[in-house]
Formats: sequence, structure tokens, C-alpha cells
Amino acid sequence: MEDKEYLEDTEKDTGQDKEPGTGQEKNKEAEYDRFCFLCHRPESQTGKLITLAQGMAICPDCMQKTMDTIQNGNIDFSKFRGINMINLADLQNMMPRQQQVKRKKPKEEKAAEPAFDIRKIPAPHRIKGQLDEYVIGQDHAKKVISVAVYNHYKRVATGTQDDIEIEKSNILLIGPTGSGKTYLVKTLARLLDVPLAVADATSLTEAGYIGDDIESVISKLLAAADNDVEKAERGIVFIDEIDKIAKKKDTHHRDVSGESVQQGLLKLLEGAEVEVPVGASSKNAMVPLATVNTRNILFICGGAFPDLENVIKERLNQKSSMGFQADLKDKYDNDPNLLARVTMEDLRNFGMIPEFLGRLPVVCTLSRLTREMLVRILKEPKNAILKQYQKLLALDEVQLEFDDGALEAIAEKALERDTGARALRAIIEDFMLDIMYEIPKDDDIGRVTITREYIEHTGGPLIAMRGVLKLEEGSAAQG
Ligand code: ADP
Repeated sequence: MEDKEYLEDTEKDTGQDKEPGTGQEKNKEAEYDRFCFLCHRPESQTGKLITLAQGMAICPDCMQKTMDTIQNGNIDFSKFRGINMINLADLQNMMPRQQQVKRKKPKEEKAAEPAFDIRKIPAPHRIKGQLDEYVIGQDHAKKVISVAVYNHYKRVATGTQDDIEIEKSNILLIGPTGSGKTYLVKTLARLLDVPLAVADATSLTEAGYIGDDIESVISKLLAAADNDVEKAERGIVFIDEIDKIAKKKDTHHRDVSGESVQQGLLKLLEGAEVEVPVGASSKNAMVPLATVNTRNILFICGGAFPDLENVIKERLNQKSSMGFQADLKDKYDNDPNLLARVTMEDLRNFGMIPEFLGRLPVVCTLSRLTREMLVRILKEPKNAILKQYQKLLALDEVQLEFDDGALEAIAEKALERDTGARALRAIIEDFMLDIMYEIPKDDDIGRVTITREYIEHTGGPLIAMRGVLKLEEGSAAQG
């Protein structure tokens, strides 16, 4: 009798699609994922669950295992105290109240149109124009990158139609910390709507050593492209801290995280078919592999190259100390644009191998941010930090203003830290904390003006009450 009851239930549930519930029930079904009573995996992983009795369900795998165990006679029912053979009513006492987990809501579809269609890649001046809205200064770098990207995607779009094959224009970005290298590349990828993987060269090692192997950068890109191989194949890979994989001088050991990584990157930069794990960072027996061709992937390498200035200076001094027109030795010591004079020879002396440099034909340098540029970064970009705070306070109907002195003081503080624009946010967050805490306490406050004195801790911000603002508005209207 019990056997029959069980079979009937199983048949009912493993049979063809049941009529879905109606109204609320249907909604609930869509929102919740049931999970197996035995192995606790959700239905989305196990396949359709088999409902036994009273809503208790197990997955086909567990059902099979149970059947196998019973058939092989390996089951010792005496161990299951209080449970008679397939008396499901006994199991009900152990049942969780709700054998369901809430499903994650699917991500909302991106409604925003990409700024550019890479099949109809816009002219370099338009790419630069878009970059200008976000990245302040660095005009030369933006120009070089716009042209390189334009050529790259033209090459991708046309493929190789004749004998003349356009070479890849991978880019090497050299610039001090916080000068906008990563930001520039991220902005570019967003504007072009191509997937971007940002990797750190310091974490890469030759395959087989501790660390990520070199191909992991491609698997990151694949993940950024939602595992769509075709999309990944026209993406951008940014490898930061590339100066850290310079050849180590005077070493007798195998250089697994320096020169070997440069060697390993060669074939990726040039274009190769690589097998990468899907949805994991290392290959193992459990993950499927996908083959990605890196021919059309744009590689951008970036680094601060801290000692490069000395290498350049040495070369320039050597040249100028010969002959009758010998210059003073310290002529280049305070040259802010020294980096811009870099040559391939300097980079080789720094420790980059010639084959590696050969695959990064576009070299461009970013300049150290000046006080004026930092002030502009605070207020001008589309998503400038000040605009973000102004928007936050505007939700409380409070105007937030910064006088010029305050902006200069923030920039000066940032310059002291010598981490470029990266310091700005930390400095602002520091003093905005009190403002964001105190202002919502008083509903009468209508405007806050941050002053130099407030930044330098010698005074407070200027506060204007709503009543005063109304009077001001009134008199302005009359005037
Ligand atoms: P790095 O050169 O070390 O890669 P980042 O690109 O990470 O520096 O810069 C850090 C932050 O500073 C960025 O997220 C960005 O908000 C800001 N920033 C840096 N340079 C600029 C710039 N030229 N224009 C606008 N914002 C910048």
C-alpha cells in the first residue's frame, strides 16, 4: 500500500510538465528555488526535483543513489531508529519547514546605449572628445590612445582582406602613481562597450609556480565578457605594474616572476590561441575549457617605472657631457617632463626585454598631476567627487559649495602625499564626514560653503540658513 502511494507520487512529479500554479503561487514559484532534502543543492543545479510526500522533495541523483543502495542490500534499516521502511510520514518530523531558497533577482538589462559601435569606430578626435569629459589633462596620452584604439578596431573590423596585414597596436602607458592610467583605460573600455580585464603583473608567475599563471588574464577577460568568447576576443586587457616584471639585475636564480613573465606574455601580446578555464582562475579537471584567440585583444600595459627617470637622466647627461658644449650635470634634475623623453633604449636598460617592447609599439607617457590639474579633477569630470557630494546633500535640499581657496588647499594636501589624484578622495572624505553628520541634524540649514580655513583646521565652514537664502533670492529677483 505504502509502495503504491510512493510510486503514484513519483509518477505524478516526474511526469510531463505540471500545469503551473496561478496568481500568487506562480509568482512565488518564480522567486523561490526548491532544494533537495538530502544533498541540499538547489533545483536549478540538480534538475527537476521529485516530490515525495507533504512537499518534501529530493533530486534525481539522490533518488538514484538511494535506489542503488537498497538494491545492493547495503542498507541496514536497524540503524534508522524510528523509521520504518519507506514510511514517509516518519521523515516529516525532520523536514525543514520550508524547503526553498529565494532566488537571486536577475540583473537588470543594461539600458544605456554604448557611446560607440566598434564596427563603426569613430574618428580619433571623437574618441578623445569623449575621454575629455572624464579624464583631465594628459592630452598627449589621450591623443595617442585615441589613434591607437582607432587603428586597432579598424584592423579588427576589416580583418585581413589582402596581403597587407595591419600590425597590432598594443600600448605601453608610463606615468606616476595616480596620474590616471587605469582610469583612462577603464573609461575607454566603458565608452567602447568592450569587456575589460585589469590584472596586476606582480601577481603573475611562470606556469607551475605559486601565483596566477599568465593565461589567467585571459580568463579574467572571459569572465568580464560573461563567458562570451567572441566578445572577449575583441576586449581590452590592462596589465598594471608592468615595471615590476623588469629583469632582475645580478640574480643567479631563475627569475620566475620577472623576465619569465615577460617571456610568457609575448605570445599573448602577439596573438595566440589559449585554452582558459571558464568560471575559474586555474585549470583543473572540474572546469570546462574555452579556446580564446588573443589576436584582436588590445593589450595595454601600465607602470610607474619609478627609477626610469634616473635612467633617462643618465643617458641625457652622458650625451651632453661630451665635447665643448658640455652642460651642467644637474640640468635635467628638475625637468618635470623627463619621462616624456623616454626611448626604447631606456626601457631596455630598465630591464624590459627587447622582444617584449617590440610587441608594445605604442608608448605614451602621462605627466605628474599639477595643483591646477588636481583642482580641475575635483570639480570638472562628469562624475567629479564634488558633484557626488553635492548630489548627496541636494537630496537633503542643502546646497554644498567650495570656495576656490578650499579647492586649492585640498590639491596642496594631495600633492604632499605624492599619490596623484588618488589622495583627493581620502582627503575629502576625511573632512566631509563631519559635514555629512552634522548638517542633517538641522533642517534650517540651506547652504554650506567649505573654506580654506576649514580644510586647514583654522576655521569652520560658512553656513547659511534657509530663511537667509530666501531673502537673497528675493532681492536677486527684485534687482
Ligand atoms: P594610476 O595611474 O596609478 O593607475 P588611477 O588611474 O588608478 O591611477 O587613478 C586613481 C583615481 O584618480 C582614478 O580613479 C580617478 O578618479 C582619479 N584620476 C587620476 N587621474 C585623473 C585624471 N587625469 N582625470 C580625472 N581623474 C583622475
